[in-house]
Formats: sequence, C-alpha cells, structure tokens
Amino acid sequence: MFTRRAALAGLAGLAAPALLRAQPTLGGDPFTLGVASGDPAPDGFVAWTRLAPRPLELHGGMPMTPVPVGYEVAEDDDFRQIARRGETMAWPNLGHSVHVEFAGLEPNRPYWYRFSAGGARSPTGRGRTAPAAGASLERLRFASVGCQHYEEGLYTAHRRLAGEELDFVWCYGDYIYEKAGGAIGQPAAPKRGKVRRHIGDECYSLDDYRLRYAHYRADPDLQAAHAAHSWWTTWDDHETDSNWAADRDQDGTPPELFDLRRQAAAQAYYEFMPLRRSALPLGPSIQIYRRAAYGDLLDCHFLDTRQFRDDQPCGDEFQPLCPEALAPGRSIMGAAQERWLFEGLAQGTARWNLIAQQVMVMQLDRRQVEADPSFWNMDSWAGYPAARERLLNHLKQANLHNVVVTSGDEHQHYAGELRADGADGPVRAVEFVATSISSGGDGEDQQAGSDQILADNPHLKFMNSQRGYLLCDVGRDTWRADFMVLDQVSRPGGNLTRRASFAVERGAPGVHRA
Ligand code: FE
Ligand code: CA
Repeated sequence: MFTRRAALAGLAGLAAPALLRAQPTLGGDPFTLGVASGDPAPDGFVAWTRLAPRPLELHGGMPMTPVPVGYEVAEDDDFRQIARRGETMAWPNLGHSVHVEFAGLEPNRPYWYRFSAGGARSPTGRGRTAPAAGASLERLRFASVGCQHYEEGLYTAHRRLAGEELDFVWCYGDYIYEKAGGAIGQPAAPKRGKVRRHIGDECYSLDDYRLRYAHYRADPDLQAAHAAHSWWTTWDDHETDSNWAADRDQDGTPPELFDLRRQAAAQAYYEFMPLRRSALPLGPSIQIYRRAAYGDLLDCHFLDTRQFRDDQPCGDEFQPLCPEALAPGRSIMGAAQERWLFEGLAQGTARWNLIAQQVMVMQLDRRQVEADPSFWNMDSWAGYPAARERLLNHLKQANLHNVVVTSGDEHQHYAGELRADGADGPVRAVEFVATSISSGGDGEDQQAGSDQILADNPHLKFMNSQRGYLLCDVGRDTWRADFMVLDQVSRPGGNLTRRASFAVERGAPGVHRA
C-alpha cells in the first residue's frame, strides 16, 4: 500500500540515503557521547561515535542488536561537497561503537563528518588529514594532554583546547581513572576536595569500564575537544589499574587473572577511542605503539610504556634507588618495541623526531628537603635507568640531534634536558612533560619543595603544578613549547594563560627560554 509515510521516506531518500532505511526506534538521541576523529593519515582518518541514548544505563540504553549507522564526510561544514558517504553497522559486541576509516581524501586539510542512526543525526566533527608523505612542511602545531581525573577537576582545559588551531592532539593516557566513586544509583555527592564523583565501584569488568568511559565522555567540554581535532591516543596505567606493568598489578593478583581485567580494559579502550581496526584487542593485547609522519617535518613515534615493561623495582612508588633498579637488562618498552623505535629513529629523514610517551624519562631527584635522602619515581624511566641509557646511546650512535620527548603522568609541567650517564653527561635530547587536564585539582604555581628539586637537578629548567596542557609549535629549525595553565579547575570559567615558553634548536639539543 502506498502511504504518505512511504512517499516521504522516498523523497528523503533521494537527498540522504542513510536516513531512508527503516530504523529501530532507539528511545532518544543516540549521539549523547558525541563524535571523535583520530589516527590521521595523508588520505583519511578514523571517525568515531557510539550509540547510547541513555549513556549511564546498562548497554547505553541500546537494544542488543546490530544497528545500521550512516556516515558522511564533507569538504565544508555545511556538507555541500560530500567526499564520502556510506553505511556501517554498530555491533553490540563493541558496545555499539563505530570506527569508520576514511580513505581517498586530500592531504593536509580539514574535513567535516557526521553520523545518522535511528532517525537522528550526530553533532558535526572536524578532522584533519596529515600532509602527503615527504611533502615539504614549514610548520605544524600540536597539543599534548592527559590525566583527566573526573572527580578532581572540571574539563575547562578541554574547552580551551577545542578553540586552539592544531594539526593534532596527542593524549598520552590516564584518559579515565579506574577507582571507585559512589554506588550505582546513589546520588553522586562529591567527596571532600573533589568537584564531582565517579559512578560505580572500582572497574574490573567490561561493563564497569564502559560505564566509566561513558561518564567521562558525556562531558560537553571533553566532547568539544574531540569534535574539534583529530587525536592520537595512547594509554597509561589508569585505563586499566594504577601502576600496572605487563601482567602484574600492585596487589599480587595472579597474572592470568589480571590478564582478564586487562582484556576488559583493552576492549573498552578500543571501543571509546578513534582507533584503527589494527588496534582491535586480541585477549589482553592491543597494538597501540605506532608511527605517524607529518611530511618532511616530523616523525612521531607513539610509545606504549605500560604493556611490555618489567615490573617497577625497589617496591614501586617514590623510593631511593636499590640494586634491582640498576639491573642492566631492565626494559620499559619491551625488546620488540625498543628495536622498532631504534630502527625508526635511525632510518627516518624528517627534520624532527617526536618520541611521544607516558612517563617521565628525565632522571629526577624528588627530595623536597635538603636533609632528606634522594629518591626517585620508580614508575617513571628512573626505575629503568638501563633502558634510558640505551635510548640516549642510540641517539648518539644514530647521530640524531633532533629528538624531543613529550611525557605526562606527573600532573606537573616540566621542561628539561636528557643527558647521558644519569644526568651528568652530554645533552642528547629535550623532554617536555605536560601537566594534567584535571588530576590534582587547582594546584599551585610552585608547590612546596620545588626550589629544592630545581637545585638538585640542574638538567631541569622549569616546573609548575597547575592544570592545563602543552602546546608544541614545530618549525624547520626551532621547536617551541608553550606551557598553558589554568588558574582553577574547581569552578567553571577557569582562566588559561601561557605560563612559560621554551625552545629547542635543531641540531643542538638543549633547551632555552623562548
Ligand atoms: Fe595521571
Ligand atoms: Ca599515570
């Protein structure tokens, strides 16, 4: 029978085939978690969304059936010049997340993308393709972010990040924190000193992690940062469990049982990040160390220092160095990733190399009072000094004077030099550590003991303990780093300022004020 409804559907179909099909009723807007893009290549990027009409309910309020999702990517934000259009399936197996890998797009330009499902249309996201392989590139700009504990601060930094002009965002990890908040279904009263509260107990199962990511990703400021930029994402410890190391947690859980938790954490991570199919987890394993080239200007080496590392030495946490830490074979990347990194560095021809990874590489004496003994962060590269020396030695042997390391995890900004032989030898590279988006709360410019740390570590040039992010402007000969800080994250409307700027000259490792 010819109905008015069918006629309307037919007309609509001429303009937008993705909206034509009979769709299940999804019981509300399924795009409450926003959109994201990531892993840009010269010819495309991954576009992500996840259907969840009620994001904090079991299954996001979705029926446990596959649901078709339409997608389109355009050359303009009005979608007049459509570059690609099609349909994919959101599978309940992946929590109705969608990862569309666009290909065949033009290099080094913005595109706009959106999705449709259940008669609803998603917000529009903007992605950016990488420059063509080997193309001459004058400059690029990226931000380094991470450590966004939901309870400890608002995502004002993400709101500001959304307004930056960037080629990409790199997230080093601690995208979620796994620890408990309030009971599910209970009013989420903030704890003392916290601005808001996690839902649910500590994460162990796939649904625990899914709920935690959904809670974070429902934040409009975080959604804005994802919608505005293409991200490269890696993880640190809190996407799974505090200070985990390969198949070990801190509680002495049997490794084969901890692997089950890792498996749940890895799947949830994949489901919520704009990752390529090549990162689909297999058991507890997920391939997220990878490389990206930005023309002839920058080779990015994104590391995973969590999944393949030896256990933290000397009892973990902040400790004096013990003989265990000094064992010559100790590794923070694992042998295969270390070989992959060294080969990539030696074979690359770009003006600059970025080693983008999680924990601080600098050897940093953390004592805050002169009378105290020296102690070190055993979860950072300080607990893996042999691995650090191998890396710096390789830079010397490969004759590389164009390496910048970016790190996070500390919830503090740092700028410093990576010197051989602990911290006493020649400068081999520069390290910029980005502070947290929210972890640690408002913080302060110079926390107690900063003077002592700066005095004890002459290779350290700057530290700050507020919230924010790191901006890097990479030119042909000069790499500039801006340390952005917020005056507060405990209340809305925090003010963002550039607290300090440093520069590195290509061919002459060392860092100076800019
Ligand atoms: Fe953190
Ligand atoms: Ca961490």
